[in-house]
Amino acid sequence: MAASVVPDFRWAEAPSSSGGAVIVGGGLAGLFCALKLAPLPVTLITAAPLGEGASSAWAQGGIAAAIGEGDTPAAHAADTLAAGAGIVDPEIAHLIAREAPARIDDLLRYGVPFDRDLEGKLALSQEAAHHARRIVRVRGDLAGKAIIATLISAVRATPSIRVVENATLEELVTRDGRVGGIRLRRNGRRSFLPARIVVLATGGAGHLFAVTTNPIEAHGDGLAAAARAGAVVADTEFVQFHPTAIDIGRDPAPLATEALRGEGSILVNSRGERFMLPLHPDAELAPRDIVARGVFSEIAAGRGAFLDASKALGSRFAEHFPTVHATCLSAGIDPAVQPIPVAPAAHYHMGGVATDTQGRTTLPGLWAAGEVASTGAHGANRLASNSLLEAVVFAARIAEDISGLSGGPATSAAPEDIGAVGPTADPREVRELRELMSRDVGVVRRAEGLRRALRRFRAFESSSLAPELRNRATASLLVAAASLARTESRGAQARADCPDADPALAHRSFLTLDTARALADAQAPAELCPAE
Ligand SMILES: Cc1cc2nc3c(=O)[nH]c(=O)nc-3n(C[C@H](O)[C@H](O)[C@H](O)COP(=O)(O)OP(=O)(O)OC[C@H]3O[C@@H](n4cnc5c(N)ncnc54)[C@H](O)[C@@H]3O)c2cc1C
Repeated sequence: MAASVVPDFRWAEAPSSSGGAVIVGGGLAGLFCALKLAPLPVTLITAAPLGEGASSAWAQGGIAAAIGEGDTPAAHAADTLAAGAGIVDPEIAHLIAREAPARIDDLLRYGVPFDRDLEGKLALSQEAAHHARRIVRVRGDLAGKAIIATLISAVRATPSIRVVENATLEELVTRDGRVGGIRLRRNGRRSFLPARIVVLATGGAGHLFAVTTNPIEAHGDGLAAAARAGAVVADTEFVQFHPTAIDIGRDPAPLATEALRGEGSILVNSRGERFMLPLHPDAELAPRDIVARGVFSEIAAGRGAFLDASKALGSRFAEHFPTVHATCLSAGIDPAVQPIPVAPAAHYHMGGVATDTQGRTTLPGLWAAGEVASTGAHGANRLASNSLLEAVVFAARIAEDISGLSGGPATSAAPEDIGAVGPTADPREVRELRELMSRDVGVVRRAEGLRRALRRFRAFESSSLAPELRNRATASLLVAAASLARTESRGAQARADCPDADPALAHRSFLTLDTARALADAQAPAELCPAE
């Protein structure tokens, strides 16, 4: 079975703009899109209070943009293409690189205090797999926090944006084959919000896994709602695992940033062996997916994995990495002298709802931006600091697309109460789903485990009455089905039973929920590796 459904779908026709827009999600993509849409009326729905429950606010690196001397968008695009393991869409890589400087200017205009050098120019740092200094940051590791705080102030000061906090999207409602509104739950009640224009900006799906760096809100509601409403999804098999989440039993797991390895910290097992040395010439500085698999193997073999900064940083640790230092101390570990226990954690979803260059999905009236979308920018592996960039580039494009629609005077509709919330998710079942994802759809996958997981996801999908559980099961199904169909290892997808890349599969994958369900229900194994 080929890994890809040939994309014979069509991008949706745009509706009229009358009725204003509903944006679901208050991270970078949602906030930026809302600001760009002003003065068009916007209702911005978010599951948590603004500033909380969003990965954007946790970003420690920054945003990539080719604005340094000698750097070019073409060079940025080339690094993006190389990182994506052969399946990045070149048009999209060039598009985001080209539009990056203008979006950084927008953020500066909104008031984001990016770091500057002594001459007053933006200070640029370098990250793994970027061949130039092109990351803009804020006070070291505070980019996400500063950007989100600035945009929230701007949103609060914009009268055309109505913010509805603590409201959770349960499903998209379609009428006559197009978006007609959304069903939400808030304060124990369910409501229907009529809308002909919906922008999904619900972030990633890391919380589908037992170990993740993502906030609890990131469990794939947007992805599931779009697929359940008929939208095509893409590249859902590709989940990036961060190799060094701090393994101190917290959920979400705090990060030991990559910069620690950049400063010379080493990875060792419980015997003190530096296990990355034989695995890659760059050892700890190998690409993220390779380090994640190295850490995973040591843990699976019972030897554990630890990040040792005692020689590289020692007493300088607290000054250079205050956040990580404080986290370790709170768990009784002094990272200046003791190794930090680490584990791979689901960190970023390269896949999502398939979108075109305007952020349109295949469902009329539905756009998607940020991590919930799959634009083709990341392929099988995301280049560091390209995700915040992709979020602003596509949020702006979507706003331009929607603003250009014809339509009558735009008004904002009010939600209609449709009753009390029904059953809620049983925490034991949520735990079972998350553990299944980590065990069978995690860092290293096999057809047998994927099939086992798919059967459980199908059962949950059809029997769960709680919308959260159903959406979790649907989103998990989309990840596992695409992984089963991709009978090769490429980038973040590691199949122990298909360890090589298959040149015939060097393309993106596109799925509908029906196709994913059919794969899950297939009796005979349809997914043989080329070598079998
Ligand atoms: C710890 C960490 C560090 C990172 N560092 C970087 C970095 O340095 N550079 C970089 O480029 N990328 C980084 N990333 C990735 C990047 O932060 C995300 O990809 C990006 O912020 C996603 O933005 P978003 O707006 O799509 O989603 P988010 O910022 O996650 O926002 C999603 C929003 O949707 C809401 N939501 C979710 N579900 C629902 C629902 N059902 N109903 C209503 N609202 C809902 C959430 O509450 C939230 O408001 C990092 C990620 C993590 C977790």
